[in-house]
Amino acid sequence: MGIHQSELDKRMEHFRSGCIKAGLKLTQQRLEIFKALAARDDHPDAEALFSSLRSHMPTLSLDTVYRTLWLLNDLGLINTLGPRRESIRFDANLRQHHHFVCLRCGLTRDFESDLLNELPIPEDAHAMGKVLASQVELRGICDSCSQIEAL
Ligand SMILES: [Zn+2]
Ligand SMILES: [Zn+2]
Repeated sequence: MGIHQSELDKRMEHFRSGCIKAGLKLTQQRLEIFKALAARDDHPDAEALFSSLRSHMPTLSLDTVYRTLWLLNDLGLINTLGPRRESIRFDANLRQHHHFVCLRCGLTRDFESDLLNELPIPEDAHAMGKVLASQVELRGICDSCSQIEAL
């Protein structure tokens, strides 16, 4: 569930310049939290990020992780995947992309599609307000859940 080093470098570069533009101090803690998110493609929630960071950042608190993620979200440096029943998931992929969501384990993976990027917006949706972006969510059963169910 890692991403390519070149993509990570791009995300880190964008993050650094975004922080400078926003006048946000680039603390080690913010850098580490963003990097932990940017290195993953599984759209973790704050708890999952916290537990992956705790081992090398013993003074970090879950509250700090939450506050940092919401701050970065407010600045447009990361996205959320919208309200879910249990927890909000965060996304460091700012390019237009779409999601495959596993209904069993909640795995959420990115994919890109020019066709879906240009999906026509229905009149009804335009009537609800100004459309700024569209993102398709495909729901299904991921490969590993399919394998477990086949056993
Ligand atoms: Zn699954
Ligand atoms: Zn995503």
